[in-house]
Amino acid sequence: MHATVEQLLEIKDGIDNVVSQHVKTCAHCQNTLQQLQQLQGELHGLSSEVPSGQWQKIQATYLTTSQQKNTTRLVRAIYALAAAVLISAVVVIFTFSSRQDQENQMYEKMVQLIVESNTLEQLITTQLNQAPDLIDRSTAFRIERLKWRLKLIDQEIETSALADTDTKIALWEDRIRALEAINNNYGMAYNH
Ligand SMILES: [Zn+2]
Repeated sequence: MHATVEQLLEIKDGIDNVVSQHVKTCAHCQNTLQQLQQLQGELHGLSSEVPSGQWQKIQATYLTTSQQKNTTRLVRAIYALAAAVLISAVVVIFTFSSRQDQENQMYEKMVQLIVESNTLEQLITTQLNQAPDLIDRSTAFRIERLKWRLKLIDQEIETSALADTDTKIALWEDRIRALEAINNNYGMAYNH
């Protein structure tokens, strides 16, 4: 299987991991690695001031949710909502699909990841009204970097229509990790 974006980021930073050998000889992974390096170049060109409105939305949502002072409850809410949406999605799959069990399970897993990713993203982006200015510059930079990573993953997802389900699952897992990392960065910014 190809390297995840996370693994490629490690390799880019000079850290060896289980896929290092594969990446050396894989054109696809090399290509993605190059994209990452390009992104890094773009990041260096970014203004250090707080960026787009989209980002402020994320910030606003996080402030709202962290005001509840109960992140655990929020996380549970995310999964409860994801599970609720998932149930209907899975019913659709079992009703209309004649795929074999294993493939069915993979599809189920992929749908679950997509739902989880969308739910997480919705929670991060729904609130529009508050735009707090409480985040320090290094956190802002980390979050901006994660947004670029999200963008890259989205590009890969868009072009993965013909890829196998394994690859798609890995991409969605990557996407969820990036969203969770954005959430965590807001958590560190607001909870001390
Ligand atoms: Zn590869």
